[in-house]
Amino acid sequence: MIKPSSINNKSVDCIIVAAGSGKRLGAKIPKAFVKLADMPLFVHSLLVFAGHKSIGRIILVVPSPMIKNARRIIAGLHIKKEIIIVKGGTHRWQSVKNGVEASRAEWVMIHDSARPFVTRAIVDAVLGAAKKYDAVIAATPEVDTIRRFSGDCAGETLDRSGLVRVQTPQLFRRARLMDAFKQAAAFCSPPTDEAMLMQAAGVVVGIAQGDPLNFKITTKEDFEMAEALLKSKRKNKS
Ligand code: C5P
Repeated sequence: MIKPSSINNKSVDCIIVAAGSGKRLGAKIPKAFVKLADMPLFVHSLLVFAGHKSIGRIILVVPSPMIKNARRIIAGLHIKKEIIIVKGGTHRWQSVKNGVEASRAEWVMIHDSARPFVTRAIVDAVLGAAKKYDAVIAATPEVDTIRRFSGDCAGETLDRSGLVRVQTPQLFRRARLMDAFKQAAAFCSPPTDEAMLMQAAGVVVGIAQGDPLNFKITTKEDFEMAEALLKSKRKNKS
């Protein structure tokens, strides 16, 4: 257990992973660089973290050939916080590891650039839960009926009252996460988040309130939904 006061604006670095290819989106450029409204996808969440007082440095992980491009985009944003750009790996967890290795902070907040609608409230909820846990994920309750299936036949229905939909940001004590990366090789398929690695290393993972609107953009339809949401948000503001 740690004291609430141990999280301050020098102790949390944010790692935004933006090194995926985005094959399922079908774009010609990596997903994080596709424009959502008037900005590349990764910029939307980056601006939220850049404006949060509890976040120290931002570490942006991008595909190696996009480093120059990312540097140019960031220069145009005139952000006061220090932003470090590092190259990604083959799998998501390897991109995260590259980012974590560039941090010296006590805590690292990991975020998928594919979730442009992260909010200050979600970040605060995650930081709040770290008063109690060394690992925290944002999540929302499952509302759909979830079933297993086999071929085109429905199988067992899972009890949704015991299920949550996992999101990012996720917050970890950096030293414990570095330790947990040693477990990655033991996974049959690449872990889809670091909370899986932390659990495999015996760390209890706390849950903080996410938001259904903090959805991940994977397909063309998700992108269209994001465009529509952004339009309505901007209309309501004006
Ligand atoms: O592929 P998926 O959308 O699940 O990826 C989640 C996040 O992880 C995305 O923001 C993507 O850019 C990032 N990622 C990465 N490096 C990889 C694969 C995915 O940074 N090798």
